[in-house]
Amino acid sequence: MAVKDSVSKVVDSTMDSILSVFNVRWLHPTEECDLPLKNEIENDNSQLDNIRQPSPHPVLPQVEQELLPISPSVVADPQPGPSKLSQDGMPSSRSFHDLHIPVKMMEEFLRLAQDNTAKDLETCGVLAGSLRNRAFHVTMLIIPKQESTSYSCQTLNEEEIFEVQDMRSLFPLGWIHTHPTQTCFMSSVDLHTHYSYQVMLPEAIAIVMAPMDTDSPYGIFHLCDPRGVAVIRKCDLRGFHPHEEPDDFIYEPCSHVHMNPDLEFDVVDLR
Ligand SMILES: [Zn+2]
Ligand SMILES: [Zn+2]
Repeated sequence: MAVKDSVSKVVDSTMDSILSVFNVRWLHPTEECDLPLKNEIENDNSQLDNIRQPSPHPVLPQVEQELLPISPSVVADPQPGPSKLSQDGMPSSRSFHDLHIPVKMMEEFLRLAQDNTAKDLETCGVLAGSLRNRAFHVTMLIIPKQESTSYSCQTLNEEEIFEVQDMRSLFPLGWIHTHPTQTCFMSSVDLHTHYSYQVMLPEAIAIVMAPMDTDSPYGIFHLCDPRGVAVIRKCDLRGFHPHEEPDDFIYEPCSHVHMNPDLEFDVVDLR
């Protein structure tokens, strides 16, 4: 029936827009790692068509041919899957599980840090949590014993951190630290610190709180995966040092992070 056909076309095109919005969001992390955007968009469409194969759809046979080798894994399953190859032949960024942070946690951390911040000393904390419903949830902020200067912070008695995490069966999902007077960025020391979190858990995040940086009072970062991870893995330097590659080649703001207003969290201050 003609009416039914035109209705189903409308439904089809609505689904197209819904699916493309959905898909663009999933692929957002890769966009920030300077991948060829055109290539990604072409892959997007192909993945959509693969998903929709069960229902008959007027796709040009020629296009269909090109699409066959491409796996729909990015859309069908956000878990890290077999790596795709981008145009330069390098594996592209992986996709990440979502990671939820309690909205109030960063405020609370700044409050706990304020004595140090007033003395121009950094403060650091560990973000612990668990995996629920295929998403990581930060549910504990641990402030370890620490030694800090105005541009560095070193955790002490790390076994105490592990003990607290083990008691609740939580694991480290990242870390947070202040830049009392500096701007919001990841120093070379921060990048090396974060490397050890991210090799343990690809979704691990580094939050920088920079209350004096009016443009960017906080940032949630990670190493570009795989290329930033590779730069830091190969770098044997310690202390503050320059890297040959520009910062935006090595690290980027996370796009798998959600600020969750309903997520409860505990604070354990070990100082
Ligand atoms: Zn820092
Ligand atoms: Zn380095």
